[in-house]
Amino acid sequence: MKQLDTIQANKEGDPIKSPQPFQLNKKRLFLLLALGLLFMSLLGLLFNRTYVSTKESYMGAEMDAFESKIYTTLELYENFSDFIFEEHINQDDVLALVEQGVFGTEDEQNAARRMLFSELSETYDAVLNYDFRQLHFHTREGDSFLRFHAPELYGDSLMDIRDSIRMANTEERFVFGFEEGRIFNGYRFVYPLHRNGRHLGSVEVSISMGSLVQMIGSLYPDDVLTFVIREDIVRDTVFESEQTNYSTAPFFPGYALDEGISSQSERCVCDTAFSMNCSVIETIVSDNEELTGEGASFNRLTTQNGQDVLVNFLSVTNLSDQHVAYLIGMHEIEDGSVFGHYHLNRDLALLALFFSFYAYSIFMYERKQKQLGILANTDQLTGLFNRHYMMKQLEDNRQKGSGFKQPAILILLDIDRFKRINDEFGHQTGDAVLSETGALLHKLAGSHGTAARWGGEEFVLYLPGYAKAEGTAFAEQVRSAIETHAYSKGLSVTASIGVSSTEDPDTPHIDALVQRADHKMYEAKEAGRNLVKA
Ligand code: GH3
Ligand code: MG
Ligand code: MG
Repeated sequence: MKQLDTIQANKEGDPIKSPQPFQLNKKRLFLLLALGLLFMSLLGLLFNRTYVSTKESYMGAEMDAFESKIYTTLELYENFSDFIFEEHINQDDVLALVEQGVFGTEDEQNAARRMLFSELSETYDAVLNYDFRQLHFHTREGDSFLRFHAPELYGDSLMDIRDSIRMANTEERFVFGFEEGRIFNGYRFVYPLHRNGRHLGSVEVSISMGSLVQMIGSLYPDDVLTFVIREDIVRDTVFESEQTNYSTAPFFPGYALDEGISSQSERCVCDTAFSMNCSVIETIVSDNEELTGEGASFNRLTTQNGQDVLVNFLSVTNLSDQHVAYLIGMHEIEDGSVFGHYHLNRDLALLALFFSFYAYSIFMYERKQKQLGILANTDQLTGLFNRHYMMKQLEDNRQKGSGFKQPAILILLDIDRFKRINDEFGHQTGDAVLSETGALLHKLAGSHGTAARWGGEEFVLYLPGYAKAEGTAFAEQVRSAIETHAYSKGLSVTASIGVSSTEDPDTPHIDALVQRADHKMYEAKEAGRNLVKA
C-alpha cells in the first residue's frame, strides 16, 4: 500500500505536460520493421538469385561463344588439311617415295627423302601460305623422316614425346589435337599412310597457335587474343636450341608466351601498345589462382579505362587431356546490353531507396497515429487525459473476469458553484479556473495515479494500489489544495469530492465504481460542499 506522506513528494512547479496517453507501440513498430527487413532480404535474395543466374548464363554463353569461335576456325583448318592430304599426299607417287624411304637401304632412304622434299615443295609453300606451320613425315616406328621446316633434322624418335604420332601409328587412325612439339606447339592433324594395304608411317600437317590467333583475329576483329603455355611443358618438350621461341609471360606466373605469336600478330594483348590489357589479365590471374591452378576454363567481367571488358580463359588440353595452355580472349562489352556487375549495384540502390521510403512511411504513420492518439485521449482545455482515456485505463486495470487486479481508488471532484464564476467573471475566467485546477490535479496525481477531466467542471483521479483510508486521506489533501490554491484574480475555489474504492461492496464493475464516487460527490454537495465523502 502507498504511504500517505509520499503524496507530498510531487515536484513543485512540475509543469503540466501534454500527457502521453498513446504510447508509441514499439512492439508493433519493431514487428513492422522486422517484417520490412525480412521482405527486403527476401527481395534482395530474389534479386541476387536472378542476378547470379542471369550473370551465370550470360557468362556461360560468352564462354561458349569464345569456344565456338576457336573450334569453327579449327574446323576450317581441318577441312583444308584433309584437302591437302587427299589431293597432294595420299597419291601413289608420293606413297611410293615414302615406302622407299621407310623400307629401303640408307641410301635409298636419303634419296627418297630428297625426292619427297622436291616433289612436295610446292605443296609445302601452299600450306605455309594458308598459315599452316609444318608438313612432317614419320616412320611407322614414330621416328622423324622429313621435316619440311627443318629437313636436316631427322631420325629422332618422337614415339615417347608426341602422342599424336604414337596414336596415328599404333592405332593406324587419324589423330587431331593440340600438342607441344620439339620446335612448335599447335594443333596437329596426323594421318596414317598406307600403300597397297601396307602401313608405312604417318604424315602431319599442323597449325601453330600463332596462326590460329591471327586467323581468329581477322575473322573476329573485336576480339583481342593471346596464348600462354605452361613453362614446365616448354622446358620438358622443346629442343634446347628452340627454347628462345618462348619467354616468361609477365602477367601470368608459370606460363610462357610464344614469341611467334607476339611478333606475328598485332592483336596480341602483350604488345606494348596493349600493356593495359596485360595488367587486366594479371589482376584476374592473381584473383583466380585456384582456377588457374587446376587449369579450368573461366571468364570474368572487368573494366579497363572505364570500359567494360569480358575476358575469357579457355583451357587448352593436349591429346592426353592434360591442361597445357590458355587461350585468352578479351572484348569490350556495351554497358546496358549485358547483365553486367553494375546492374547488381543499381538493383541494390533501388532496393535501399525502396526500403528508405518504406521505413519513412512507417515512421510517419506511427507519428501520425501518435498525434491522433494524443488528440483522441486528451482534453484540449486542461491538457489532462479525457474521460474516454480514463475509462480505457479503468478497463485495463480490471481483471478479465470480475474485480480489479489490485485495490484502487476513484476520486470524483466537482467544482462548487462554478456557474457563478462564469456568470460573475466571464466564461474565459471560468476556463482559466478549470485549467489551473487541471494543472493542480496533474501535479497532485504525480506518480501516484492518473488525473483526468471527466467533463464540464468535474475531474477524476484514479489511484491504483490505494486502500480506502489512504485514498480518502489523499482526497482530503486534494480538497484542501484546491481551497488554498492561489487562483488568478484572487478567486476562491472549492470542490466537493466523492471517493469510491474497489474494496467497497458492489464495486467489482467500473460502472458501479464510478456511480458510487458520483453518488458520494452529491452527498458532499448536499452536506454543504467543500467536503470529501467516502
Ligand atoms: P454545483 O456546486 O452544484 O456543482 O453548482 P455548479 O454551478 O458548479 O453546477 P452546474 O452544473 O449548475 O453548473 C456547471 C457549469 O459549468 C455550467 C456550465 O456552463 C459550466 N461549464 C461547463 N463546462 C465549461 C467550460 O468548459 N468552461 C466554462 N467556462 N464553463 C463550463
Ligand atoms: Mg457539475
Ligand atoms: Mg459544480
